[in-house]
Amino acid sequence: MKLLLDSTRCQGYGLCREPAPELIELDEWGYARIIALTVPAGAEEAARACADSCPNSALRVEG
Ligand code: SF4
Repeated sequence: MKLLLDSTRCQGYGLCREPAPELIELDEWGYARIIALTVPAGAEEAARACADSCPNSALRVEG
């Protein structure tokens, strides 16, 4: 599974980090950065919650 970020849609709300701090970090302005493109085993649910938490649909899971 991959967690993908469309940075053109990210508005820096920072909500995505809460459900998956091991997958997402925020830069100094609050914009998301993916820590690991490939979701580690056992973190799939967190990745889905992370994608669902974004009000701007900037994140999606694939695979
Ligand atoms: S919740 Fe969405 S808009 Fe907000 S920082 Fe995360 S990816 Fe960006």
